[in-house]
Amino acid sequence: MPIPEFLPAEPIWVLLAGLLGLLVGSFLNVVVHRLPKMMEAQWDAECAAHLAVRAGKEPDAPAPAALTLSHPASRCPHCSHGIRWFENIPVLSWLVLRGRCSHCKAAIGMRYPLVELTTGALFAWCIHYAGMGATGWLWCGFSAMLLCLALIDWDTTLLPDSLTLPLLWAGLLAAALRWTPVALPDAVWGAAAGYLVLWSVYWAFKLATGKEGMGYGDFKLLAALGAWFGWQALVPILLMSSVIGAVVGIAMKLRSSLRPGGYIPFGPFLAGAGFAALLWSPAQLMALILHLLGLGT
Ligand SMILES: [Zn+2]
Repeated sequence: MPIPEFLPAEPIWVLLAGLLGLLVGSFLNVVVHRLPKMMEAQWDAECAAHLAVRAGKEPDAPAPAALTLSHPASRCPHCSHGIRWFENIPVLSWLVLRGRCSHCKAAIGMRYPLVELTTGALFAWCIHYAGMGATGWLWCGFSAMLLCLALIDWDTTLLPDSLTLPLLWAGLLAAALRWTPVALPDAVWGAAAGYLVLWSVYWAFKLATGKEGMGYGDFKLLAALGAWFGWQALVPILLMSSVIGAVVGIAMKLRSSLRPGGYIPFGPFLAGAGFAALLWSPAQLMALILHLLGLGT
């Protein structure tokens, strides 16, 4: 599809976008770690206030949040050693420190540099492919939000409204402003149908089995993908996420690495299919899925 306002990016800009992506990836590590904890603290406070009102008491004044995205400064989770700026340079610091805390030598997960590298690669690719105009930078933001959602859902089975809903609105606004190649009616239908399709699956499954097969966050995430890629991309996105999700689920079951309850979140697979939709058109995606399933020509 032709990209609106395409401003071709020189290699130096692609490189700089990649470096910016490394920094954004470092911030995403913080968001993925802290946002679920912040949400839980908020729910605890809301529950306590609600119970106080039910008991006829005056709820306590809300205490200031102990944890925010910027406070306190990053610390080693093992020895609480404050991480200095030169220990916080994306990828490089991890390599220089050989994946260990400089104070207590506890291992620092390889996931941190991998998230930084992935974000850097996504930013470089978006600017290379979509240029230096609004579309390229919008897709950088889209990629960062999608990666963040995938990781939070994988860790906690939560898809925060504070990320899914802005992503949905941004997709609709981008289509309205013609900053994405998707026509506005296609984006609106994509958002509505994306939500409704999974909502219907959820209720059909719940009425048939009494169990919840997925969460409301999944509906909102597919609605957001529908807004960004149009209704035409929904079938390939759903097919791809279901097939890969099922393969990973079976592999984890065979290796006995499923979590208690045998539950795997669907969001990371929806997000993965969203990244695929960034690379390929809906028709190309369908051809790819059919090929993978051995049904292609
Ligand atoms: Zn330490």
